[in-house]
Amino acid sequence: MEADSDIKSTPKGFHCALCNVHLPNASSVEQHVKGRKHQTLSTVRATRKTQEQHSVFVSGINPVVSQTDIAEYFQQFGPLSDVVMDKDKGVYAIVQFAETDGIQATMSRVEHQMKGLKLRVKLREKKDFKLIPKKNASQNLQQALDRLKPQLCQLLSVNAQMQYVVERFQLGENEKKARGLLVQLLQEVFMEFFPDSQIQPFGSSVNTFGIHSCDLDLFLDLENTKVFQAKSTSEQAGEGTSDDGRSEDSILSDIDLSTASPVEVLDLVAAILKRCVPSVHKVNVVSSARLPVVKFHHRELNLQGDITINNRLAVRNTRFLQLCSGMEDRLRPLAYTIRYWAKQKQLAGNASGAGPLLNNYALTLLIVFFLQNCEPAVFPTVDRLKDMACEEEECVISGWNCTFPSQPIAVPPSRNTQDLSTLLFGFFTFYAKFDFAGSVISLRTGRALPITDFLSQNKEEQATREEASTKSRPHGPKLGPLNLLDPFDLSHNVAGNLNERSQRSFQKECQEADKYCRSLQYQRKSTKGKSWGLVRLFTPQGEVPQAKTEQPTISIPFKSASLPLVLRNELHKAGDGFRLLWFQKVCSAVEGVFQSVLGCHLAPSTDAVFGEGSVVDDMETSSTSLNTSINDSCDSVESQNETSPQGAAVVGAKRQLSSGSEASESPQGKKPRLAKRGKPVLPHWICGQKHMVWAGRRRVRRELIKDTDSRPEGSCMELESKVTAHIIEKEPELKEPLEFKVQPQMVGETESTKAVLQLEPISDKTGVFQDFFHFLEGFLPKMVETLIEKEVGSA
Ligand code: ATP
Ligand code: MG
Repeated sequence: MEADSDIKSTPKGFHCALCNVHLPNASSVEQHVKGRKHQTLSTVRATRKTQEQHSVFVSGINPVVSQTDIAEYFQQFGPLSDVVMDKDKGVYAIVQFAETDGIQATMSRVEHQMKGLKLRVKLREKKDFKLIPKKNASQNLQQALDRLKPQLCQLLSVNAQMQYVVERFQLGENEKKARGLLVQLLQEVFMEFFPDSQIQPFGSSVNTFGIHSCDLDLFLDLENTKVFQAKSTSEQAGEGTSDDGRSEDSILSDIDLSTASPVEVLDLVAAILKRCVPSVHKVNVVSSARLPVVKFHHRELNLQGDITINNRLAVRNTRFLQLCSGMEDRLRPLAYTIRYWAKQKQLAGNASGAGPLLNNYALTLLIVFFLQNCEPAVFPTVDRLKDMACEEEECVISGWNCTFPSQPIAVPPSRNTQDLSTLLFGFFTFYAKFDFAGSVISLRTGRALPITDFLSQNKEEQATREEASTKSRPHGPKLGPLNLLDPFDLSHNVAGNLNERSQRSFQKECQEADKYCRSLQYQRKSTKGKSWGLVRLFTPQGEVPQAKTEQPTISIPFKSASLPLVLRNELHKAGDGFRLLWFQKVCSAVEGVFQSVLGCHLAPSTDAVFGEGSVVDDMETSSTSLNTSINDSCDSVESQNETSPQGAAVVGAKRQLSSGSEASESPQGKKPRLAKRGKPVLPHWICGQKHMVWAGRRRVRRELIKDTDSRPEGSCMELESKVTAHIIEKEPELKEPLEFKVQPQMVGETESTKAVLQLEPISDKTGVFQDFFHFLEGFLPKMVETLIEKEVGSA
């Protein structure tokens, strides 16, 4: 009963006041109320209430008073079940009685005296039980912005605001000096133990993008030490003596640097740090990182440090960023502003270096890539920079060409004269529309390369990579939702750690920012005391709200990394036609989900009349079904690939939408509608559903698998089909069947590649369409992925 009182209906569905969650429909309310969170909170609330009703609040004590003293005193009023004291302060106690009679007896006494103290006794205050939200990151970010806001608002332009962001956050001269001294000290210490070694700072401390309190990244170069060690070992062996005092006493007698693993060397580095460097503490070897690292903290400087070995490429890419800054004054204000924006929007800044967000290096490369693509370009491509370097500047590291001029003066200035605020706006526009799923960003060529160039064999390479040593032959980058090639190590996706959600948030935030930059408020044309320019851009935001669409739509993103190898190879061969080929697989799978998994009746869509020259006309010649065979040749796909003026290719079946649905009438026997002359009717399915196959699925699935299997929803076609069959068998039919239209569309090239399904109710007399739609939003994309994998696997 109590649970019911927690649930309030809202214009958008329901809200559980206890758990503070929104629930879209009645079936989700049912699931939620039975769920663990709601049950646990209900129990905690009930326990608290009982405690409140059975206890009194006692103050006027002091730290000398013990729990036993309190218990002994209050026992005279009735049996106790607990005494809680604030031990640290000795200020109050809560005395809990086993029965409420104890409270009455206590309260009827006018004065309480114990050990010469006058106690004050009160009934407990009745507090509403509230779920205390977790510490909110966006509140902290908002506070930081509140401190920055007054200064930003008093400036005269966005350009000035961007310059101010640099001044406010950049590393100060004293900070740089202190870091320099620490590097010097470490150099001296390491030289003692590793003769001829060199310690080199890299990363934001020196790449011109550092902010107060950024970490100190250090590369310990042991190449010369290895040479030294080899030489002294061979001398000893040859002469049969051990008169080289340096190596005899040195730590080098414990380790052979040429054969030791990086972690073994780092263990040694950690030991030296702990024992020999004052003020250094919290020393830790992180061996699981892509590059193993020793982390430490410097107490006096309050500075986090990272020491790596085998990281020559990072030192070189740091030089590259320094060069970029030197070539172009606008880069730093742009980078500081975008880094701060990304931090406020929680898009960048993985805690302790690992996580699914962009790191600052990746973000800076995205900025450089955008600047390579401005009109006219602000930066040349990395390939062009290589050509501008002279012979002495040639540099190859681990087989990768890292050549570029050492001085900015060697690079001709850009003809681009756009101001900072225009470039910032341009950055957002560029990535708001960028097809992340279909491309690999290459700063080397300054272009977005088609993903198909990287699809073939990539999975096999990934498998072999795990076994291979780090010095194995070059392999392809790890593909993911955002593919950003390192400018030098071309086998490395700098954003390979990103997950789907982070990529989506990044693009959504770019879209939001792009929209905002079009407003008058961005350029301070209509302020009226309101925040303007960067202030609004920096406003922290939690979840990015789903874009409001007129019609319910479900997006199925193109996820190159999760596709089966066979299909990746097919897509690779399809070249530019890969989107269409993939879209056909998706359509085929969508049809499978509706028909075979969810037991919908699929009627053929309209035998549409297409206007002359319509984009779908061309498809007609070679594609007659969405249920395309998996063995379709890529050649036919290429000939079908057409793009609408908006960049959205529209394809699909117009006739046979599923095997066995040969009728040209809808399930209700209606004649299919014909398109008005000259207007294309987009291909679609008409679906009929007589059962609420979405309601209670989780429970049925649990029963069917009987806890022997923990497969998540949507990961097994047979299981999901059984769940549907079970519901259809056990649950009554809807009074009136639900009938709805599903219209698929492919989007790509000017946006991230995805299939978009528009759903529209045709007949929904029982009002269940919204529930079904909410279920499909989560279920359909996962199930489609499973079906594609299954179909390809069995082909
Ligand atoms: P900050 O520490 O202020 O966040 P940073 O540039 O120092 O910025 P770190 O994550 O500390 O970023 O990385 C240090 C350096 O290591 C980078 O500047 C870059 O040179 C290199 N680096 C970081 N991540 C990568 C990566 N994914 N691929 C290649 N090099 C990287
Ligand atoms: Mg750093």
